[in-house]
Amino acid sequence: MADFEPARGFGVYIHWPYCTRVCPYCDFNVYAAKLRRPDPLLDALCGDLRASRDMTGPRLVDTVFFGGGTPSLMSGEHITRVLECIRDLWGLKAGAEITLEANPDDFGRFQSVGEAGVGRLSLGVQSLNDENLAFLGRTHSAKDALRALDVACSHFPSVSLDLIYALPGRTVRDWEAELSLALSLPVGHLSLYELTIEKGAAFARSVKRGDWTPPDEDLAADLYEATQRRCEDAGYPAYEISNHARKPSDVSRHNRIYWESGDWVGVGPGAHGRLTVGDERLAIETEENPVAYQKQVASRGHGRSVLQSLSRLDQIRERVSMGLRMTEGLRMDDLNALGFQPSEREITDLQELGFLDRVTDRIRLTLTGRLAADRISLLLSP
Ligand code: SF4
Repeated sequence: MADFEPARGFGVYIHWPYCTRVCPYCDFNVYAAKLRRPDPLLDALCGDLRASRDMTGPRLVDTVFFGGGTPSLMSGEHITRVLECIRDLWGLKAGAEITLEANPDDFGRFQSVGEAGVGRLSLGVQSLNDENLAFLGRTHSAKDALRALDVACSHFPSVSLDLIYALPGRTVRDWEAELSLALSLPVGHLSLYELTIEKGAAFARSVKRGDWTPPDEDLAADLYEATQRRCEDAGYPAYEISNHARKPSDVSRHNRIYWESGDWVGVGPGAHGRLTVGDERLAIETEENPVAYQKQVASRGHGRSVLQSLSRLDQIRERVSMGLRMTEGLRMDDLNALGFQPSEREITDLQELGFLDRVTDRIRLTLTGRLAADRISLLLSP
């Protein structure tokens, strides 16, 4: 068993599963917010955090990430309560990164969210074009998004924007114009995702009915390459397949913990976690349904539905697929520590095909390789 996972950071992920409206492309574990009282879920989150502390023992927290769902539906007091719980149980490292995903519609809460201790806001803008926003089922306009960004910049030292591209009927030029506008905004970080048709999402049904057709593979590849070029030229190089930062300090430290196979606790309905405990690497999942989750924490003291010790093979596969996502690449030493060395022949073949580079002790995907990341990680895995 490798002993480096805890050294790669320790994060806490909080899943807030409610959204004002469920977007047609979304397949996350989300539920319409309606008029739900937040207290039962807050009680469950704190109870599950206590149970997680029993598993981890004392460690200081490097990062906290409020994801969802729409955690910007939480008030400043809700966030304060969860953060106090984390402080009491583990303690936060000085300068810990605390991120919250926000819907632009919730700009009125940004001040209280910042005052509660969140320092990094990840703003789900999704598009800066009104027609695209309507297609994506979003309730805000491009103007609303820019106003929310303005408010965010005055309350958070660090702001990131999420945008979705590869929308039907949109050309590379259309996307470049939108991306150029995003790159002119005062943010340090961009997450740029290709629209994917997820099995359980409403878009899967509308595509099946023939209502619209997603871009083909060639156009998607052109869009990805154009994205990389534009971002690189504007000083926002990719540090991961879909993530771009202006400076090293703008990189998401929380997500880095995932990609580097660090340790994190995940609480809230349907959250996932990974913990190194003694000789074991544990994969943890919680009850997906919010009511079932709350009931379980109340009756059993924890929200876990899965607690599995990962085999060495699973650990290697996870490390290859996650590590290759980062543009700095995957450290061979990390694989060697798990008793695995990828086939030299495979590496050389992939290098010759232009998919892979070798830099000192790392292998990393080239731009072309990033387009086939999943297939390449399968080829390099045992
Ligand atoms: S995309 Fe975001 S806002 Fe829309 S339903 Fe999914 S989690 Fe909620």
